[in-house]
Amino acid sequence: MSDYNLIIDGKAVSTAETFPVLNPATEEVVAQAPLAGEAELNQAVAAARRALPAWSATTDGERSRLMHAIGDALEAHSEELCKLLTLEQGKPMGGFAGLGAGFEMGGTVAWCHATAEMTLDVDVIQDNDVARIEVHRKPVGVVGSITPWNYPLLIAIWHTIPALRSGNTVVIKPSEYTPLTTLRAAQIINDVLPPGVFNIISGDGSLGAAMSSHPDINKIVFTGSTPTGKKIMQSASCNLKRLTLELGGNDAAIVLADTDVAAVAPAIFATALINNGQTCAALKRLYVHEDIYEDMCQALAGIAASVTTGDGSGEVDFGPVQNKAQYDKVCAMAEEAKDRGARFLCGGEPMEGPGYFFPVTIVADIDDDARLVCEEPFGPILPVLKFSDVEDALQRANASSCGLGGSVWSSDVAAATALASRLECGTAWVNNHAMIQPDAPFGGVKESGIGVEFGRYGLEEYTNIQTLQISKS
Ligand code: NDP
Repeated sequence: MSDYNLIIDGKAVSTAETFPVLNPATEEVVAQAPLAGEAELNQAVAAARRALPAWSATTDGERSRLMHAIGDALEAHSEELCKLLTLEQGKPMGGFAGLGAGFEMGGTVAWCHATAEMTLDVDVIQDNDVARIEVHRKPVGVVGSITPWNYPLLIAIWHTIPALRSGNTVVIKPSEYTPLTTLRAAQIINDVLPPGVFNIISGDGSLGAAMSSHPDINKIVFTGSTPTGKKIMQSASCNLKRLTLELGGNDAAIVLADTDVAAVAPAIFATALINNGQTCAALKRLYVHEDIYEDMCQALAGIAASVTTGDGSGEVDFGPVQNKAQYDKVCAMAEEAKDRGARFLCGGEPMEGPGYFFPVTIVADIDDDARLVCEEPFGPILPVLKFSDVEDALQRANASSCGLGGSVWSSDVAAATALASRLECGTAWVNNHAMIQPDAPFGGVKESGIGVEFGRYGLEEYTNIQTLQISKS
């Protein structure tokens, strides 16, 4: 028996079977989550399909009002949702630089309100004696959202609020590692919306695949790994589903010789370690000019020495790695770097359990072909690489199949901007990294994804174009 329910057609639905959700800080069971199968998926999709005509016919103003109401309702439950986030995801409430559960909650509310204010106006591209031609944006239909475990609540909102705002109905499936916050948020959202508009199912193995091949889902929005993104793309071909895929990143940052190390090291540290490094657009490869290399290494190691890692329910900077598989991956990458003779400036050894704790680790003098450099660690470990020639740094930064974000740091903003524009990535920052906001499009190039989220461009991804051509002759 679960304390949590699926929500299908506005009703709480329990399942015969459940699955345990662990607290990554203690490895103890936080709660049992409902285990949905294909029958529940079909019911959820059918409910979303039934609700679609009425929801897509609501006025733009009404949908805007309801998105604001969702933001208000979630904010009213902030404390409860933040506690759940800490329990199942591991992140502390405040955390380093205030980037913990409270930050995720704040972003959740802000994105609801900002998206509520966005509109997709009709574009008139011709109006003369011959014809009037209008370009309209129509909802794609039923949107399936598959969300990850790093920001369970915020990414659920990133996926679903633009979908709802533009007139679609939704079936969401949270990660099996972190379903609880989303299940609770779905109850709160359902108190605001008509039945069937927002449906949630949770499961533990094959639901994602069943969603991406479901003939009555029109679009999948997925945030997660590139290999899973590729599988989704294959299954989505069954009915030519629309796709937004926000996949892995292995973001490079290039720090030029004229950079003030003391001034930028805290920001570099924060953007690399945000959410314990479990952030798609975190800074994951740091290329530093040889003139300031040692100073940067020491500055980062100094900050690392001052932070705490522990159970997020206490006053700590960083919590555990969210799950055992990810923790094992981080440990394996650290071991491989050690075997190659890399220089560990701090950390490097898993902390004593229970819990999936790995300390903040800064690694210098590491080979370009080490796993830690070639693959995204998605954990609290940062490789720092040396360069002497800027063109060489750019070539190494771009030598990745990923292309989510990248950055250049320098006192010379014009030079940094020129270099940043040559990074092969969806967002290039100058003197910053991993900064996102609701009105600026965000997405990956190369194998980091397809499409963008946020702002007008993100909203358009939940629509099909209908060209209306009215002949006047
Ligand atoms: P994955 O990205 O592989 O995603 C797992 C999710 O995908 C589950 O919800 C699963 O649902 C679903 N899924 C699995 N197979 C399919 C399929 N064929 N079709 C549709 N959905 C499917 O997550 P992992 O936890 O395994 O993380 C692996 C790596 O992904 C991490 O190491 C990290 O590098 C990256 N990652 C990136 C994130 C980001 O923000 N971009 C977030 C999290 C991880 P079900 O089990 O129900 O099928």
